[in-house]
Formats: sequence, C-alpha cells, structure tokens
Amino acid sequence: MKTAQGVTVVANGKLVDGTGSPPVPDAAVVMKDGRVVYAGPSAGAPEVPPEAARIDARGGTIMPGLVEAHFHPTYFNVSELADLDIKYPVEYVTILAACNAKLALECGYTAARSGGSLHNIDVWLKKAIEEDLVPGPRLAASGREICGAGGLMDWNPDHLKLGMEGLILLINGPEEGRRAVRKLVKDGVEWVKTYPTGDAAAPDAADHHTLCMTFEEMAAVVAEAHNFRRKVTGHCRATQGIKNALRPGSTRWSTARSWTPRRSTSSWSATRRSSRPSSSSTRASCTGPRSGCRSRSSTGTRRRSKGGPRAPG
Ligand SMILES: [Zn+2]
Repeated sequence: MKTAQGVTVVANGKLVDGTGSPPVPDAAVVMKDGRVVYAGPSAGAPEVPPEAARIDARGGTIMPGLVEAHFHPTYFNVSELADLDIKYPVEYVTILAACNAKLALECGYTAARSGGSLHNIDVWLKKAIEEDLVPGPRLAASGREICGAGGLMDWNPDHLKLGMEGLILLINGPEEGRRAVRKLVKDGVEWVKTYPTGDAAAPDAADHHTLCMTFEEMAAVVAEAHNFRRKVTGHCRATQGIKNALRPGSTRWSTARSWTPRRSTSSWSATRRSSRPSSSSTRASCTGPRSGCRSRSSTGTRRRSKGGPRAPG
C-alpha cells in the first residue's frame, strides 16, 4: 500500500517490537508519513500535533505486522482438489482473492508470499494492493504453479478437455520446466512454486513419496529461475523430493521463516489482548490441497477441509 501521510499514534498497549527486546508496558508508537519515528514507553513519546490520528490499543499488544509465508489468495472454502481450479470462473475467483487479501490484513498480516495462484491473479492482486485499490498485505506473487504431468496437481481428467492452465503449468522434462519458468517470469512472478512430491492426502494419485518432478526437472527450473533472479519454493513431503529440491538450490521448501520488521506504518498493527492473530491467520491462507486447507468466507464462516495432516502445498 502507499505510504501513509501525517502523524499517527498507537498507544495504550504493551509493545513487542520484534527485535527480541523485552516487552514495554504502557507503550506508544509514533509514525510520521508512514515511518516509525518512536517506539517505546508512552512517557518518553514525542509531542504530536493535535490533528494526529490516534489508535487505541485498548490494553492489547502493539507489534510489527505478521508475515504469512505461504498464502494462496485464490483458495476459498476448499474441500476437494477440484475446488482449487474449476469450482468458480476466473471473474469470481478474482473477487474472492481480494476478499482473502483483506482478511489476511485484518488478521494482522502486513506481508505475505503467495504459494501459487489461479490464473496469475496474485500478480495483479499485488498491483491492486500497491495502488490502494483493495486492502491487503504487501504481497510477493508466485502466479501459477509447476508440476510434472500426472503428478499431484494434474487431477482433472483429460476427457473434460478443459484446455486451460488455470492453476498449474504441467511439464514433461527439463526443457518444459525451463519454458514454464520463462512464462512465469514474463507473467510477473517473484517466486516460482514447484511440486517435487505429492501428498499423503492424495494416496490414490501421488502420495507424499511420489516424485511429481524429477531431479532433472527441478534442476532446470531452479537454474532458469535463478537466471532471472527469481526464487523457488516447493511442496516437499518425503526425503527424496526434499533432496531433489534442495540439491539444485531451491530457496525454500515450505517452512516458516523469521522476519525483521520494517519500520513503516503498514508494518505495525495493534492487536487486542483477546485476539489470536497467529492462529486466525490461517483462515485466509491455504496450506495445501486437501491437506488442511483453511479458508474463511467474507461472512465469517470457516471450513477446514477433510484429508490428511495439515501440510504446506
Ligand atoms: Zn501451497
């Protein structure tokens, strides 16, 4: 989102600044033109003009915004694999993605990295957020995901003749992997999402031991992504797939990472003591097809999919 203007004060709360310092009771955070100029005890806060915006933390915790490191903005009330791509037309999925972005921000997430998106929607959602058209976290886009033909994400039967590359770019061989990366780069992605393995939630198709991409395919994808200075992440479930992802130099394989807070208005949030942003955040994200994906509708209802253990997808 664009940088805020004017002075904003967040007060009446306990400060956890994210640096490892002890919490500061009765703290205040002062921001000027989108930059944090003070974070510490209220008694030491600088004078602010009377027209400054004031946010009452109501005795809760004042903290940097959280980061969702695996966010699927286009997943919504997923209960089966087909819900991930052919359940709704692209027009409606785009609206749902905007709702999910808003929900993520409201849950306290001020930054998110997409773990894959239907129809390249996250690339354009990122642009809409940055231009203040819709509210949402700062977003790193991944666009469509890459999976080997016949792998976990190749679930739609051929007789349907869908003829679309909605969620997945299916590949056969390293050269098609390179081609897929080049397309994603042209589409505007920052991260490349891959499927080195299947998932225990799909035992009849490609379980967690099944390699959905060969080492050669992974190596080609990683090399081409790095050629364009992009990063690679992967859905890895079992040892060989993890090795195939790591040996070529994939940047991540679906684990959370620590984060150093940026000192800007959009990076800080005040949470009430009674709120639980860490757990509620997953309502806006989906961590994997049929493996504990959670989403929450704009009306506040929440569903959790059936299937195996919760798993990054
Ligand atoms: Zn995922």
